[in-house]
Parts: sequence; structure tokens; C-alpha cells
Amino acid sequence: MVRADNVHKSFGSLEVLKGVDLTVASGEVACVLGPSGSGKSTFLRCINHLEKINAGRIEVDGDLVGYRERGGKLHEMGERDVARQRQSIGMVFQRFNLFPHMTVLQNVMEAPCRVKRENKAEVRDRSRALLERVGLSDKVDNYPGQLSGGQQQRVAIARALAMRPKLMLFDEPTSALDPELVGEVLDVMKDLAREGMTMIVVTHEIGFAREVADNVVFMDGGVVVEQGPPNEIIANPQQERTKAFLSKVL
Ligand code: ADP
Ligand code: MG
Repeated sequence: MVRADNVHKSFGSLEVLKGVDLTVASGEVACVLGPSGSGKSTFLRCINHLEKINAGRIEVDGDLVGYRERGGKLHEMGERDVARQRQSIGMVFQRFNLFPHMTVLQNVMEAPCRVKRENKAEVRDRSRALLERVGLSDKVDNYPGQLSGGQQQRVAIARALAMRPKLMLFDEPTSALDPELVGEVLDVMKDLAREGMTMIVVTHEIGFAREVADNVVFMDGGVVVEQGPPNEIIANPQQERTKAFLSKVL
């Protein structure tokens, strides 16, 4: 579902991604761990067109992200194609970024109605079902400001799912939450994983990674230092940098 090859990204003279390689198969969950500043968010943002890479390539479901290949050459995609590609990728951020002036239901319905111009009644039914799935049936008519952080983040997940993405990206989805609200968001993500969603999750929740990840990816200094199944990377890391990081967060 995702194939990143030798991805490079710089901001001015600062090289943030220095050749990231990552493969995520359909239905798999990859958890990305690593110290602050190692390029985790930048990498997710590159997959979702929020940043443009300087070298290398990223494919999502066989589609080259941001470029078309013609006659052996890469051509930048037009805005319309970029928008189409982005529709198939859902992203959830540390900060929930809900629309404050819309109800929970309206938040979830907004993109399918406005961006995809789907039938409103169908979108409403689907959105209600998604809100039920994340445990918020009783909050559909509330405004984001009336919800806890954990509830808002669950709305953000439902909102991303409303576009029927084939890939979900999570960037530290529980880092801004009070500790007692972390579990309810992780539970929704576990369900999603169990149902076969392909997910890349940047997180410091080692317990979640151990339980849910097919592949744990340790990033440091703009490269993937080490990756593999949780029982190898978390329980028995080989690289010194991974050991040092885990000893701090475990
Ligand atoms: P992480 O998510 O692992 O903490 P980031 O991808 O957010 O790391 O950031 C990696 C590095 O890139 C940091 O040094 C950060 O300051 C820098 N960076 C991120 N975004 C930008 C930007 N838009 N402009 C300049 N520097 C950036
Ligand atoms: Mg980050």
C-alpha cells in the first residue's frame, strides 16, 4: 500500500529526511517511533502531499505521490490530481483541528459532501454509523467545544474515515490528551487495525505499538535506523540508538 524509496526532504539547508525507506503492506499497521526532531511528522506530511520531497519516491497503492511518469521522466502533478490522491489518505493530527462552528455530525459530513459532492442523505447515514463506531452516537449534535479532547480526537478519526481512505496516517494522535483520555482513542485505533485498515502511526505509546503494530519503525536523524516486528524491535533492539531511545520511554 505504501512504498517509500530513498526519500529526501530539506528545509533550506536543513536536511530533515536523509533517505527514508519504508514499505507497508495492505492491512498492515506500521508504528513509527523516534526522538523529537527525527523527521517523523515530515515523513507523514510527505506521504500526504503536505510537503514535497526533494529526491526519492513515494507510492501509495501503486500511485506515485505527486508525480506522473511519462517517457521515463517525472512530471509534477496538477492540483486536481493531487486533490484526488489526497482523498484516499486520511490523516489525524495531534491537534484535532475540528471546525468549531459545526456540529460533530457536520464535521464528519463536510468533506464527502463538499469535496466529493456525494449524496447528502447517504453521507449522513454513513457519518452517523462512523460516529457510532467511535462511541459518539450521543454527541452528533454537539459542538467540538462541548467535547473532551478524547471525544474530539475520535470525531477527527470518524471525519477522516468518512472519505473512505485506503490509508490512515496518525501523527501522535494521543500526545495532546490528558492521560485518562488516551485509552479511548487507542481503542478506536485498535478496532480500526483489527478491521484491516492500513495505518502508519507515529506514537510514543509503546504498549500500543507492541500490541498492534505489524512493523515497528525506529527513526532517528532523518533515517530509518531499524525496523521489524515489535518482539524484535521493542523487546530486542539491535542498534544502540534504538536501545537508548527505548530505555528513556519504557
Ligand atoms: P518529529 O516529528 O520527528 O519530531 P519533524 O518532522 O517535525 O520531527 O521535524 C524534523 C526537523 O525538521 C526539525 O528540526 C524541524 O524543526 C524541521 N522542520 C519541520 N518542518 C519544518 C518547516 N516547515 N520548515 C523548516 N524546518 C522544519
Ligand atoms: Mg512530530
